[in-house]
Amino acid sequence: MSIKFTQSCPTCGRRIDIRASLLGCTVACQHCGAEFTANANEESRMGPERNQDLLDRVEKALRRAEEASMVPANAEIAP
Ligand SMILES: [Zn+2]
Repeated sequence: MSIKFTQSCPTCGRRIDIRASLLGCTVACQHCGAEFTANANEESRMGPERNQDLLDRVEKALRRAEEASMVPANAEIAP
């Protein structure tokens, strides 16, 4: 069984899956190739699912704000 955790690349900021056995080791980013030390930070303790949930909520809120701002603009143009 391989346990993995997620860490954000300090160079490109993208999420990287790192095997728990590599904790404390120097790993290379899968996206940009930058090398950094693997350590379980606060972000990875939150879990990728929760982060995805948060992203979904932010996206929905943004969409709602977009729709809300579009309605008065159309209303002004319409006779
Ligand atoms: Zn990177």
